[in-house]
Amino acid sequence: MDLSDKVIVIMGASSGMGAATSRLLAQDGAKLVLAARRLDRLQAIQAEFPDAPISIFQADVADYGQVKHVIDETIKQYGRIDVLDNNAGIMPGSPLVEGQRADWQAMIDVNIEGVLNGIAAALPYMVKQKSGHVIATASVGAHTVFPNYAVYSGTKYAVRAIMDGLRMEQAQNNIKTTIVSPGATETELIKYDSEAAAQQAHEAAQAFGTLQPEQIAQSVEFAIGTKANMSVSEILVRPTKQA
Ligand code: NDP
Repeated sequence: MDLSDKVIVIMGASSGMGAATSRLLAQDGAKLVLAARRLDRLQAIQAEFPDAPISIFQADVADYGQVKHVIDETIKQYGRIDVLDNNAGIMPGSPLVEGQRADWQAMIDVNIEGVLNGIAAALPYMVKQKSGHVIATASVGAHTVFPNYAVYSGTKYAVRAIMDGLRMEQAQNNIKTTIVSPGATETELIKYDSEAAAQQAHEAAQAFGTLQPEQIAQSVEFAIGTKANMSVSEILVRPTKQA
């Protein structure tokens, strides 16, 4: 796909779906602005495409000032922003009875406030442009609650609600919104205690048919590549074997 006319910011671009999306859109020729906390990972992606227009920023999406800096620098460099992909997210397991309030707060800060920070920073520019596209990664868990992940699901339900509100508020300004809701995908989202545990999970994932992040990247690419008169409001994908 030729996306060489698009200026695309991806928050949470350093691993998993965000990294896969960055690589695919770099191949499509997009002007990319990639952000995450792990700068070394972003540098590695940049190094894979030495001739591509890729800028990288170390940023924590929970910090509005850092998110605004990324968006403002994008405008300084290119004069516009066509797509903001709010992909950053965390998913610590947190049974309610354990009362892991720090984990709950972290999920609220990254998964909800991170998305709001992106919208707050980018939307004024998109409204001025009278065009733009905001994407956010929600989850199958934004449709169904899983035990031990109630707070995570709660944050992802919130992402869907916020994005649907954004769609209704900004349709007249020609601003597209896309909620990407993946099912189980093999990434670094779940942290394992040891290499052996990670390997075991990888083998289980292979048997289950867990999605690969590159497959989610294709969904994002599809939504970005649609004609101006078509907005893909939500993409819900899951492994065929995931009930
Ligand atoms: P990864 O852990 O591989 O990627 C998460 C990304 O989010 C990383 O780039 C990470 O970068 C970034 N991130 C996390 N916290 C912050 C922060 N505070 N500031 C900036 N960036 C941050 O997992 P996935 O690729 O799976 O996750 C991508 C999205 O997909 C998430 O929103 C997740 O909730 C969602 N999702 C994942 C599913 C799955 O099965 N994997 C299923 C459904 C939804 P860094 O650590 O460098 O900051």
